[in-house]
Amino acid sequence: MKNDVDMGKVVRQHLEMEDFFAGFMVKGSINVDAPQAKFGEADLAEATKALDTLADEVRQCRKCDLGASRTNAVPGEGHSKARIMFVGEAPGADEDALGRPFVGRAGQLLDKIIAACGLSREDIFIGNILKCRPPGNRDPRPDEIVSCLPYLQQQIEIIEPEIIVALGAHAARTLLNTNKPIGQLRGHFHEYLAGIGRPPIKLMATYHTAYLLRSYTPENRRRVWEDMKKVLAELGLPVPEHKRG
Ligand code: URA
Repeated sequence: MKNDVDMGKVVRQHLEMEDFFAGFMVKGSINVDAPQAKFGEADLAEATKALDTLADEVRQCRKCDLGASRTNAVPGEGHSKARIMFVGEAPGADEDALGRPFVGRAGQLLDKIIAACGLSREDIFIGNILKCRPPGNRDPRPDEIVSCLPYLQQQIEIIEPEIIVALGAHAARTLLNTNKPIGQLRGHFHEYLAGIGRPPIKLMATYHTAYLLRSYTPENRRRVWEDMKKVLAELGLPVPEHKRG
């Protein structure tokens, strides 16, 4: 049947994922307690409060039809002054059920990538272009993006990340206001225009982890890893080496 899950493939991918992204060692140490050293305790507290207020607004939102079909809105979560902000497309079934971003299979792979970078979810912020699940995981519609994008823009304004990692075509194209394919966008830094009077923010586009799961080839996972190494190098963070060289 079309929707049957190939359990053999799922298990194989899981083992390969464990093997590849768990095979990194971080040389030196990362100061994870101070993701953005330029901000003090008061800035952090203010940003946390602003993000909480925004998250409450998102949970009440009825700007588009997704507000009626969702179980839970998924505002996003993480460090209020994270140096790196990951942006995905939209919540899926698992995220809709729990109200948290990237908690399904694509999220587990993202966790592995984050850990391979020597980081944890507490060090970064994870958000989405859409805060509510499109039924049947269909692509976001332009009107839904237009309604929802201001929430993400405000999150970016509050967090002031040094780098945004756009996961997949929808996130990259929306944030860069382009129609270019993800294959052309990934692998180098772009500028996210944060608004008048605000400096642009570096943006790295890479493949979405859901795509990576569907197309888990050595080339694709190496491409994602190369993209993440560029992000770490740009931030002056230690770039982990593969244990097997
Ligand atoms: N895919 C996304 O783009 N976002 C999530 O939160 C989960 C899966």
